[in-house]
Amino acid sequence: MRPRIAVIGSGPAGLGLARVLHRHGHPVTVLERDSARDARPAGGTLDLHEGLGQLALEKAGLLAEFRALSRPEGQAMRILDVDGTVLRDWQPRPGDLANPEIDRGQLRDLLLGNLDVQWGRGVTEVVPASRDGVLVHFADGRQETFDLVIGADGAWSRVRPAVSSATPRYTGVTLVETSLDDVDTRHPDLARLVGDGSVAVYGVNRALVAQRNSGGHVKVYAQFRAGQGQGQGPADTDADTEAVRSRLLALFDGWAAPVLDLIRHGTAFVHRRLYALPVSHTWAHVPGVTLLGDAAHLMPPLGAGANLAMLDGAELAESIAAASGPGELDEAVRAFEEQMWARAGRWAEITTAGLERLVSPDPSAALALFDEVQP
Ligand SMILES: Cc1cc2nc3c(=O)[nH]c(=O)nc-3n(C[C@H](O)[C@H](O)[C@H](O)COP(=O)(O)OP(=O)(O)OC[C@H]3O[C@@H](n4cnc5c(N)ncnc54)[C@H](O)[C@@H]3O)c2cc1C
Repeated sequence: MRPRIAVIGSGPAGLGLARVLHRHGHPVTVLERDSARDARPAGGTLDLHEGLGQLALEKAGLLAEFRALSRPEGQAMRILDVDGTVLRDWQPRPGDLANPEIDRGQLRDLLLGNLDVQWGRGVTEVVPASRDGVLVHFADGRQETFDLVIGADGAWSRVRPAVSSATPRYTGVTLVETSLDDVDTRHPDLARLVGDGSVAVYGVNRALVAQRNSGGHVKVYAQFRAGQGQGQGPADTDADTEAVRSRLLALFDGWAAPVLDLIRHGTAFVHRRLYALPVSHTWAHVPGVTLLGDAAHLMPPLGAGANLAMLDGAELAESIAAASGPGELDEAVRAFEEQMWARAGRWAEITTAGLERLVSPDPSAALALFDEVQP
């Protein structure tokens, strides 16, 4: 009999897993807290790396469709000094497909395809030790048992407490996100500033990054060191847009006018305090429950999290598909965890050190970091 598998969460990890399992002839249901696929804005643009996110898409049989949708030109990266001087201006070489960008919404739709997702199924608790399998409690009061519960439910995972007592800690860096629409028509100067890809400006303990998404949409991320502030949640939409704009303009006072225009013309503002799990987070294996993606290894957002989440999902799916019988399934999950921990640990170190250099008292540390990683 086929194992009863629950995939909790329809982010890159859960959908990547479900999609590859589906391809191997093991359809699974994804249980998602959101009430519908468009219940929340999908978010900004993601660059998918050749050996990570793109490898996962290859395993899902979706690489050609990704290539058709993605923007290789989005790999362009410009770095400015706070006075607006262009310090670096990297353009991708023709045919460079190492890290093309894709809108998060496009990626979600690509992965979703015709997968079976049950919306509005928020999990509240997972109890591993029940006789009939792993017991999952849902917010609507229902409960179900499964042979394997896969927690792909992100930073604030409700599955994680079943295997680990670790909780995300605030990194000391807050990010305020805003966006501009129809930039080529409405803000042509800013369109030129951002170019085809990203523009980043690094000052003392703060940074401003703007990224072009498809359809003339630009996402702007203002980052700075700050106390934890009010509220528990990692992301709050600010009701008083003009008050936030004024605070940000004061925080970035003295920066070049064209750079500040990215804030002046921004629409709604969303506060995200950046949290991370301990670097090299692992746990004692618990039969019947595992984690992947941010639930397992939340780290600073430096271009790796979604890539790792998708590859985790694809690799776990391949391991599950290859296993026959409950004993083999548990061994497959155990082996997957070891592999995931090793890879995620390396990236957690890189991104944690990277955040320290990008939002740093010494802005030249950010430039040096780019010089090290740009080809
Ligand atoms: C501003 C920002 C920019 C980023 N940029 C990049 C980038 O360029 N490249 C990159 O690789 N990564 C980037 N990341 C990181 C990336 O977004 C995450 O690492 C990635 O989304 C993790 O995928 P996931 O599937 O593990 O979790 P998520 O994407 O968080 O998905 C979790 C899913 O689970 C659902 N869920 C949550 N709780 C429950 C519950 N109790 N029951 C049921 N469902 C639940 C959620 O609704 C969600 O759909 C960025 C992150 C941020 C914040």
